[in-house]
Amino acid sequence: MRKPIIAGNWKMNKTLSEAVAFVEEVKNNIPSTDKVDAAIGAPALFLAPMVEAAKGSNLKLGAQNMYDKDSGAYTGEISPAMIADLGVTYVILGHSERREYFGESDAFINSKTKKAFEHGLTPIVCVGETLEEREGDKFEEVIKTQVEGGLADLSADQVKQLVIAYEPVWAIGTGKSADEADAQSSCKYVRDVVKGLYGEDVAAAVRIQYGGSVKPENIKEYMAQEDIDGALVGGASLEAASFLKLLEAI
Ligand code: 13P
Repeated sequence: MRKPIIAGNWKMNKTLSEAVAFVEEVKNNIPSTDKVDAAIGAPALFLAPMVEAAKGSNLKLGAQNMYDKDSGAYTGEISPAMIADLGVTYVILGHSERREYFGESDAFINSKTKKAFEHGLTPIVCVGETLEEREGDKFEEVIKTQVEGGLADLSADQVKQLVIAYEPVWAIGTGKSADEADAQSSCKYVRDVVKGLYGEDVAAAVRIQYGGSVKPENIKEYMAQEDIDGALVGGASLEAASFLKLLEAI
């Protein structure tokens, strides 16, 4: 059985005091890690105090990005070693906003994914098609390219450990979520691509999240689907009450 994983992606939101207040508010109400993995992907600046505030609780933290080098002359970048040293568990990689606004390629995302493993971080690798690609009948081609590119040269064990977030770009921040049958068939397709690359065992183990306008009101329908193992949630993860409601629905 795959354990559900619900992760917030705060994107570029909140101040430090708001971030710490959020942790204080939710930390004693996060369900057991036997039942669900719960995490917040926060701006890097907030991670150290958030890890500190979350100590002794079931809340895990994630970064939203990292560079693919250990250290060096890369002004402005943040290394996986820095993130891991803080006690952060996850790192979101290849989010569609990074692909779109910062030109991230599958090869770069793959390089970061490998680097994350070297530092003991669990990557959440994001894939998803745009509306234009979907309407142009390119869904399968785009997702296959992103999954194959993002996971290239990883070991079977690594693929079992990581998380893939399927987020159709047209459903992100639009309030226009994919219906659950659609989300299920897309996540199943992602799993089929993993199966083609790594075989049945790995495909059965890898956790696949759906993301795109997930809210407390619709999360149950997604979680009831066979190939959906969790959610990557933007807007509805920003308020403590809403984040806790997402977890209560599991
Ligand atoms: P929303 O939940 O705000 O649509 O964002 C989804 C997302 O991009 C999570 O990574």
